[in-house]
Amino acid sequence: MAHTLISQSDIAPRGTTDPLVDRYGRTISYLRVSVTDRCDFRCVYCMSEHMSFLPRKEVLSYEEIETIVGAFVRRGVRKVRLTGGEPLVRRDIMQLVDSIGSRIGDGLEELTLTTNGSQLRRHAAGLYQAGVRRLNVSLDTLEHKKFAEVTRRGRLDEVLDGLDAASEAGLKIKINMVAMRGVNDDEIEPMMHWAHGRGYGLTLIEGMPLGETGIDRVDTYLPLRELRERLASRFTLEPSHHKTGGPARYDRVAETGGLLGFITPMSHNFCESCNRVRLTATGQLYMCLGQDSMVDLRAALRDGGPGALDAALDQAMLLKPKGHDFVLDREHAAPALSRHMSVTGG
Ligand code: SAM
Ligand code: SF4
Repeated sequence: MAHTLISQSDIAPRGTTDPLVDRYGRTISYLRVSVTDRCDFRCVYCMSEHMSFLPRKEVLSYEEIETIVGAFVRRGVRKVRLTGGEPLVRRDIMQLVDSIGSRIGDGLEELTLTTNGSQLRRHAAGLYQAGVRRLNVSLDTLEHKKFAEVTRRGRLDEVLDGLDAASEAGLKIKINMVAMRGVNDDEIEPMMHWAHGRGYGLTLIEGMPLGETGIDRVDTYLPLRELRERLASRFTLEPSHHKTGGPARYDRVAETGGLLGFITPMSHNFCESCNRVRLTATGQLYMCLGQDSMVDLRAALRDGGPGALDAALDQAMLLKPKGHDFVLDREHAAPALSRHMSVTGG
């Protein structure tokens, strides 16, 4: 793990447009930005019931995020995803969405968000106006009581209403569902019919061992390979070349006409094609969701100014690990990393 900045003579000069390529030849074209670690939900696989959140002064200002995003776009990042925590609960979030959105067509190709949907009624039209065209909305169940249990404080009606607002505004939607044995594994087919019936994609995600949350991850872990086999015996799954820049593998389901994605960090290692890095709300750039290597861009920016940023990005490329090494079994029941998903951004 490295916290300090290097000052090599061969690092790129300030304002460089040199592409970001790591030691394994992977080009970084995708930046995920966690705009806040706070959230109005406490999903059982993501947060503990009682979370303590970061002091606000430690969190990057919108100007700082904008400067960092600008440096990344100059160096070849084409896609930015805002996430969190819940991105839409940060005050005046549309300011940031508007300013990053204004880069679309000027280096940036796409700005997207991952959201729990609770604030979508309020923000859907503004997101579209800012240039956002696609959203990932997390939804693990369509049963009201179970939804309240899984999110610990969310209301399903609000999310469903937010989804309607997003469709009305013209936003394309993909539902993200964390598959949990004994929790929602009986709802996967109904969710697929519901989502595809409404023109949404559906992506299933394997639970990852990030941060203590108060649930037993070994009991609820559901390998998606097994699930895909189960689905393949009942539906015609046609492997699709659909790509979103993310790690999901997609099938087209012949019976519904919809796309079904699988994100399988635990049972399938997709690291060799990794094109992304993640910025936390406090400005640490993590090179991998499952490893600790990071560079402190906030320190670079606050202590060295924008010029130090490019040097820090070069250093980051030297640190990007080959891959994660998540393991989940009885002997490794403790979280692989103490960091919650809400810190690094999903
Ligand atoms: N609050 C937003 C939301 O829920 O969509 C954005 C942040 S959330 C951390 C991003 C994604 O990470 C969500 O789809 C969530 O289901 C997923 N997630 C959170 N913790 C996870 C874990 N331990 N394993 C797998 N996925 C997780
Ligand atoms: Fe909040 Fe998203 Fe984590 Fe749920 S998954 S607690 S909505 S950040």
